[in-house]
Amino acid sequence: MAELSSTGAILQCKCPQCRKGNIFKHSILNPFKYAELYENCPHCGLEYEVEPGFFIGAMYLGYGVSIALMVNCLVAIYVIFDDPSMLTYLWITALITVVMIPLNFRYSRALVLHLFGGIKYDSTL
Ligand SMILES: [Zn+2]
Repeated sequence: MAELSSTGAILQCKCPQCRKGNIFKHSILNPFKYAELYENCPHCGLEYEVEPGFFIGAMYLGYGVSIALMVNCLVAIYVIFDDPSMLTYLWITALITVVMIPLNFRYSRALVLHLFGGIKYDSTL
């Protein structure tokens, strides 16, 4: 199997050290368990929570991404529907934001772990 690039490992939510083990236990399509992540990498044993509260940074990243998504939704609704009622803005933006929660949550954590975890890739694992 070909080795994953750093970007590929982030997109597939793989361990930053071995790029083989999954970060999350369940599929993103599981609405009740999409947020459960392994404490350690199932392949190399790396502890994912580098320090206590490490993933709080992911919460800030997710918040920023949510705001950017909402602004983009509002602009798209304005352009597509030619300035509809306030309720149309509200419902479409809320629906899209809620549907994107699992994606936002997982990629925020994967990005923070890869970018700020201080973990080097080891191709021998
Ligand atoms: Zn690993």
